[in-house]
Amino acid sequence: MAWEIAIFDPPPGREVCDFCTAEPTHRLYACRNFMWLKHAMFAHESIGAWCACEICAGFVDAGRWTELTERALAQFKKTHGYSQDEEPYFREQFREIHQLFKEHIITEV
Ligand SMILES: [Zn+2]
Repeated sequence: MAWEIAIFDPPPGREVCDFCTAEPTHRLYACRNFMWLKHAMFAHESIGAWCACEICAGFVDAGRWTELTERALAQFKKTHGYSQDEEPYFREQFREIHQLFKEHIITEV
């Protein structure tokens, strides 16, 4: 798991999608390391490749970032819950993380 993120906390040894936490994972995206320090609840550092499930991989490959963010957000809501008022805040967090991922992805040559 590339993303050392407090909100996505799978049991050790289990590979889940780094975007939405679904299983099984479908493919890996090589990604340069980056830091993300905006909020303590979200972690701090992305190291190495990101795993994606088949659906998220489809969004990444198609450049459908908004849909990817909505999917991650929906999964986060299922797991953690939040009020309607908080939704724009969390949506923005995911949007930023996905934007950073997009900027740091190492495209295949
Ligand atoms: Zn996924």
